[in-house]
Amino acid sequence: MGSGNCVYWAPNVFQLDDDGIAVVCGDLAGNEEAVRVAMVNCPTSAIHIVDASA
Ligand code: SF4
Repeated sequence: MGSGNCVYWAPNVFQLDDDGIAVVCGDLAGNEEAVRVAMVNCPTSAIHIVDASA
């Protein structure tokens, strides 16, 4: 919904595009804790961390 919370908590991983939509712009690696905080603070629960190796 473009709240920007994710950009605030994990600016190395999320940004808002020109339409105000959140997009992934960086890697999870090295930003795990910031992304975890962004995930729990996303008002729409739109962020999920998935173990791709599982
Ligand atoms: S992903 Fe969540 S925190 Fe990020 S802009 Fe969308 S609603 Fe806000």
